[in-house]
Amino acid sequence: MQGTCRLFTNARIFDGSGRAPFPGEVLVEKNRVAAVTDSASRINRPDAEVVDCGGRTLMPGLVEAHAHLSWPSSVGRIFNTMTLPPEEHLLVTARNAKVTLDAGFTSAYSAGSLGPRFEIALRDEINGGWLPGPRLRASSLERLPDGALGLKAETGTQHPRGPDAMRAYVRDMAKAGVDSIKFLLSSDDAFKPNGSQTLTYTEEEVAAIADEARNCGVWLACHAQAADAVKLAVKHGFRIVYHCSYADEEALDMLEAKKDQIFVAPAIGLMYTRTSEAESFGVTRSGPGNLGAAVHLERMQALYPKMRKRGIRVLPGGDYGFPYNPIGTNARDLEWFVKLLGYTATETLVAATKLGGELMGREPLGQVKPGYLADLLVVDGDPAADIRLLQDQEKLLMVMKDGNIHKRKQPVN
Ligand SMILES: [Zn+2]
Repeated sequence: MQGTCRLFTNARIFDGSGRAPFPGEVLVEKNRVAAVTDSASRINRPDAEVVDCGGRTLMPGLVEAHAHLSWPSSVGRIFNTMTLPPEEHLLVTARNAKVTLDAGFTSAYSAGSLGPRFEIALRDEINGGWLPGPRLRASSLERLPDGALGLKAETGTQHPRGPDAMRAYVRDMAKAGVDSIKFLLSSDDAFKPNGSQTLTYTEEEVAAIADEARNCGVWLACHAQAADAVKLAVKHGFRIVYHCSYADEEALDMLEAKKDQIFVAPAIGLMYTRTSEAESFGVTRSGPGNLGAAVHLERMQALYPKMRKRGIRVLPGGDYGFPYNPIGTNARDLEWFVKLLGYTATETLVAATKLGGELMGREPLGQVKPGYLADLLVVDGDPAADIRLLQDQEKLLMVMKDGNIHKRKQPVN
């Protein structure tokens, strides 16, 4: 069901482009932005329902670039496990979609599912209007050559090697209906000592994956830590490359040369919470699952300011769903961009909206402009002055997705 015609008046519009916020009005017709004005003119639509923003900020909905809706923990509901019986797990995943949308994230680009068909089913329920949740680009399980991460007992660990087997896997995933397939092109220090420097697939296999993905019209995402893993991903046209902690100058040159086609997301929030806040959950700095987090955080702080300067599209979001990093706190990632990675608040907001919309692809999304999908937030205060406002549910006065109001608080009515 699509929304009616709504006119937002007295808004302070942050349009996502990076332009300084300006006073104006926004007209939403059905599921799209139909008109935007600044203070010089008014929109005349007597048939529209008027929403008086009272001078508050109207901005595009946020995009989570590294979503794991099936990772169980959310704010107020912590699971000290990643493994649940499938029935419970799917229901928890569906609820996490609602929690994500409640938090102002109107889009989620998945970085891997713990159930092979969870996100396909969930995406279709959300798109049908049957369940609340963000726009979702659904992913496969996360694949390593020796198996998949997640629900191993149910899915088995058969993942034969070689280019033909890779092509078959990509075809199977495309047929199942995923938007994106996730591969771990390097392992990770959290899985085994020095794992970040271990490449997992041969270049021949990666080339076969990429060629078949193009044939099937699915996107590719990867976990890549080692410089050579990043280079493989860029060379073979992966859409988004996660983490990149060990990217060297050559990898940066390659990313920059393809900056109009590729996206990067560090998942800085996980590294921050692992090193600074996870101890009370039993995660010690040198314990299993946390090997090297401090090193990665330090590397990211050196690396990502360089990516910013090179104009590489770096997006916030990442790996929420651990007990110490629960879903619903995703907007913290925006704060780490400012505090740890050298971004201004405005640059971070542009990354989380305009660039996020480009990552989601397919339709104009992520800006407050005529023709764009109507995913909008009303925020009490100026996030470009204090990015932490977006973490405060009390300040998030309205969440609109696809022209429908999902959440609305006084005094925006
Ligand atoms: Zn992840």
